Amino acid sequence: MASAIVVGAGIIGLTTAWRLVERGWDVAVFDPAPVSGASHVAAGMLAPASEVVWGQPSLYPLMVESARRYPELIDRLYAGRPQEVGYLPSETLVVAADHADRTALDERTSLQTSLGLKAHRITSLDARRLEPGLGPAVVGGVHLPDDHQIDPRALCAVLLDRLGDRVVRQEVTGFVERGGVTRGVVLAGGEAHHADQTVVCTGLGLLPGLEALPLRPVFGDILRLVPTTGTPPLLGRTVRGLVRGRSVYLVPRADGGLVLGATVREDDDPLPSTEGVHRLLDDARRIVPGVLDTRILEVSARARPGTPDDVPIVGRLDPGRVISTGYFRHGILLAPLGSDITADLVESREIDDELLAALDPHRFDRPHSTPGAP
Ligand SMILES: Cc1cc2nc3c(=O)[nH]c(=O)nc-3n(C[C@H](O)[C@H](O)[C@H](O)COP(=O)(O)OP(=O)(O)OC[C@H]3O[C@@H](n4cnc5c(N)ncnc54)[C@H](O)[C@@H]3O)c2cc1C
Repeated sequence: MASAIVVGAGIIGLTTAWRLVERGWDVAVFDPAPVSGASHVAAGMLAPASEVVWGQPSLYPLMVESARRYPELIDRLYAGRPQEVGYLPSETLVVAADHADRTALDERTSLQTSLGLKAHRITSLDARRLEPGLGPAVVGGVHLPDDHQIDPRALCAVLLDRLGDRVVRQEVTGFVERGGVTRGVVLAGGEAHHADQTVVCTGLGLLPGLEALPLRPVFGDILRLVPTTGTPPLLGRTVRGLVRGRSVYLVPRADGGLVLGATVREDDDPLPSTEGVHRLLDDARRIVPGVLDTRILEVSARARPGTPDDVPIVGRLDPGRVISTGYFRHGILLAPLGSDITADLVESREIDDELLAALDPHRFDRPHSTPGAP
């Protein structure tokens, strides 16, 4: 049986490891603190339409394709019980807090529809019919029927359970190499562990020899809210808002809780920002006033693994080593596709050339390369 080591047990490492196990590989996953990085705090929006922005032509097809693969991943993992991994095909509503925000929202909607994504402009009245919890400030919105959500913590817990004792709580500090080919990893205690293939899924954790990868931490503050006892759920679907040009979102969980996020900051500070949390709460209460009646269960911050073109870094580094990182703000959404491509690389299966070029770890080394261009 062929063997693989997966370094890193975030959503990408876990889905990749699971994919390889399904394909008959003998897999060991090393991580001193599984699911402690970005995957631990992510809201879990599966939002190919609402995350589309200008100038990222190679990213949105990946988001659309990965969203399409989600139900199949959930089925393979938890046949017939999608709610147990927190998968909710509950749609998304994006609302504008004033007329300038409405104009900005309309421009984004034109982009979404021009790319063939489903985005329906609706009035404030229709928005309130869909979500009675919206406040009086809301001037209209866009209904995105294909943007759903999953609870990343629930999904990762199921993956950890499925992988069982294949997940080893140890840090990797280096690679075993012979003749320029990776043959395994070195653990923090100095012990070597060998395998036919090594897959690096460490998010922002840069291992020796990989320091030159152009990854940067993009921090996000995020809150978990719970309703006060006896109150009905505030929202039935994800509500995203544009509030004086700033983005905010509220993701309702099946248990009545809400995830409120998220700031975007590149100040290298791992602690939640007081100003950021204040701004999130202030913007959220403008679109959903009832948010002030909830209780704060958790405030957290983690860094998204950003790349210069916002597209992940996935590719083969040598005949024994593959890398899969840089999923920035879309790692939960991109996990089904990212893990499939990574497993295909491990098995040296044929992969579309254009796709490989878009994800190529060396694409930033090339002179005059255009972001996202092959
Ligand atoms: C606030 C916030 C909200 C987000 N919301 C969404 C969302 O709604 N939808 C979405 O699609 N994405 C979202 N994201 C992005 C998403 O969380 C990330 O893209 C994704 O979690 C990256 O997964 P990963 O497995 O690559 O990295 P991580 O989850 O960071 O996991 C990396 C793992 O590698 C381990 N590791 C590091 N170094 C070593 C080492 N030397 N040895 C062994 N193990 C090591 C770490 O312990 C960690 O467990 C959000 C991110 C943030 C911060």
